[in-house]
Amino acid sequence: MKCPHCDNKVSFFSKAMNKFGKVKFCPHCSQKIRFKFDLKTVALLFIPTVLFSFLLRPYLGALSTAVPLLVVFLVSAKLDPINENI
Ligand SMILES: [Zn+2]
Repeated sequence: MKCPHCDNKVSFFSKAMNKFGKVKFCPHCSQKIRFKFDLKTVALLFIPTVLFSFLLRPYLGALSTAVPLLVVFLVSAKLDPINENI
């Protein structure tokens, strides 16, 4: 994911992202950001995800559902800027 303020990459698993609370701080520019799920991306990926998990079921069992869902989760996660002025 990219920081909306400074355009630097922010790792989903970085320390800054795993702090409690809605408001996170970019590790590069220290500006306020927050997680947002892109619902369009989720909707777009939903059907392929269901198909994919169906196809993988004979090989992966329960994992066939968990893995595609995790991918959708990671792909649709976006960072949103928080503007102090609003
Ligand atoms: Zn930043």
